[in-house]
Amino acid sequence: AAVPVAGERRVLLAAPRGYCAGVDRAVVAVEKALEHYGAPVYVRKEIVHNKHVVTTLQDKGAIFVEETDQVPQGALVVFSAHGVSPAVKQSAEERQLRTIDATCPLVTKVHREAVRFARAENHILLIGHEGHEEVEGTYGEAPDHTTVVNNPEEARTVQVADPERLIWLSQTTLSVDETMEIVAILRDRFPHLQDPPSDDICYATSNRQAAIKKIAPEADLVIVVGSANSSNSVRLVEVALEYGARAAHRVDFAEQIDESWFEGVGTVGVTSGASVPEVLVQRVLSLLADYGYGDVEEVVTAEEDILFSLPKELRTTLKAAG
Ligand code: SF4
Repeated sequence: AAVPVAGERRVLLAAPRGYCAGVDRAVVAVEKALEHYGAPVYVRKEIVHNKHVVTTLQDKGAIFVEETDQVPQGALVVFSAHGVSPAVKQSAEERQLRTIDATCPLVTKVHREAVRFARAENHILLIGHEGHEEVEGTYGEAPDHTTVVNNPEEARTVQVADPERLIWLSQTTLSVDETMEIVAILRDRFPHLQDPPSDDICYATSNRQAAIKKIAPEADLVIVVGSANSSNSVRLVEVALEYGARAAHRVDFAEQIDESWFEGVGTVGVTSGASVPEVLVQRVLSLLADYGYGDVEEVVTAEEDILFSLPKELRTTLKAAG
């Protein structure tokens, strides 16, 4: 099919999109640590799952490592927004590392729930993706009391010792719909399954999914800006397709957009994951304008005004420094 004429080409831009409060806080924490203590500042794992953010911080002097044993004794290390298990904290202590914990407060909330319910001798079904850093961290709070449930298939087969003392918790960045489907399967098998005290899927994840759900039915193509290891960005592609987008692609950068995607496309939906700086979205929009998609309408489904204060180790230091 030919490319539609100019008047028929438009962009629907999702709002909210991009940076959430937890990501903003984690990135600012590394920047402030670099400013205050000077380079190098070590960061365990990617501070947030975004290539651009990681390389920008590397250029400023951050050194990303996989584990705390790669950090020189006594050096400063920042824990990423995804959280860490108690074992990681202990290993940092043993190596006498100075630490700044940039775990998102909404991830910390899930950790606290895990500890509390495990102490009360409940078994936790943790819905999430095995191998994702956040799941490793939450699981590590109560490994003897936790089983990870990755998907609906596992919900159908998971075995528990005592179905009367059972609670589900989840990773913060899952698909809202798929999680509810998994919970329904679990509840069917285990009627005494308890719900978490409040939603574990965070406001940013659910707001970004709600925004793309509104746009997807009208979109011939949805472009999600976000990295491959970013759970909430990958979910946005899936949600867009489920809700009727004819095609949906994830890109790290505007340069990854392929001209062939525009064939026969009138409406392009654009959104970005919670770890994506707005500058990357703006580059996508300017590339779209070059292709004739310069007419941009923002579709606003929620307003966000959440802001988290910096990690307390930094707050104390910055305050003392005046
Ligand atoms: Fe926190 Fe949600 Fe952002 Fe993750 S996506 S850092 S849980 S606000």
